[in-house]
Amino acid sequence: MGARCRYTLTQAAARRSLDGACATIAPPNASVGKTTQQWVTVRRREFIALLGSAAAIQPLGARAERQPARILYFTLSAGYRHEVIPLSKSILTQLGASSGAFEVTASEDPSAFSIENLRRYAAVMFYTTGELPMSDAEKTALLGFVRSGGGFLGVHSATDTFYTWPDYLDLIGGYFDGHRWHQAVTIQVVDPRNALVTDLGDTLQIEDEIYQIRDFDDRNSHVLLRLDPNSVELGKAGVHQRSYGWPLAWTRSYGEGRVFYTALGHEASVWRDARFQRLLVNAILWSIGRSP
Ligand SMILES: [Zn+2]
Repeated sequence: MGARCRYTLTQAAARRSLDGACATIAPPNASVGKTTQQWVTVRRREFIALLGSAAAIQPLGARAERQPARILYFTLSAGYRHEVIPLSKSILTQLGASSGAFEVTASEDPSAFSIENLRRYAAVMFYTTGELPMSDAEKTALLGFVRSGGGFLGVHSATDTFYTWPDYLDLIGGYFDGHRWHQAVTIQVVDPRNALVTDLGDTLQIEDEIYQIRDFDDRNSHVLLRLDPNSVELGKAGVHQRSYGWPLAWTRSYGEGRVFYTALGHEASVWRDARFQRLLVNAILWSIGRSP
């Protein structure tokens, strides 16, 4: 079919289902041999209604489901530059390939954040620092992308980013507040039944740079992992004890979009850790509305 899609899908499920597919679909009684003119181009509202009709949408949905989702991995560092970034890119790429579910495009170019370009992606992942040189239009495009159903994932220093942009705090849910511990710690799995962390058991031991979080939006975030305070020295200078403790992974919503953050991921050994890799794959799939 040569006809181009004639509308812009902003509804999350519709965009995911139609990623790469055409907007022209057959009416329920159409046969394969009919000409393009006899097919029906549906308007957005009608298409969303059809999403509930499995018989009508299944062929398109099945075809789209086989295509890997595109993830934009943004690693621009306006502050501290993490040495592990090149390794993280290759590991994410491998995880996408081995899962068959996603493919990763790494970028450090803020111009990637245009409304037009973001349409190509199912989710954006940040491993960033500092006040990134993004224009107001690029910031607005990022927020609009997530608000309309795109996934947003933050790794480690994604909370050490955009301290002067309050909307970013609304998106990610907290800010980095120093790391007083760089050691092996015990992490509590706060919600072991959650599909993102159910593989991890009740606790895990891991060695990494351990972030403290300030301005945490405790009410609107679902904490998945939290530092076991018994595994660190709390009397150290600069340790801040807060009601919410030291959350190390959480999920939240932003409009129709799903947001995931983990404070882990400083050390190369963490990126090579199968448990961390599994967490990331689970989070990516969840953020784009696929299982888990
Ligand atoms: Zn770090």
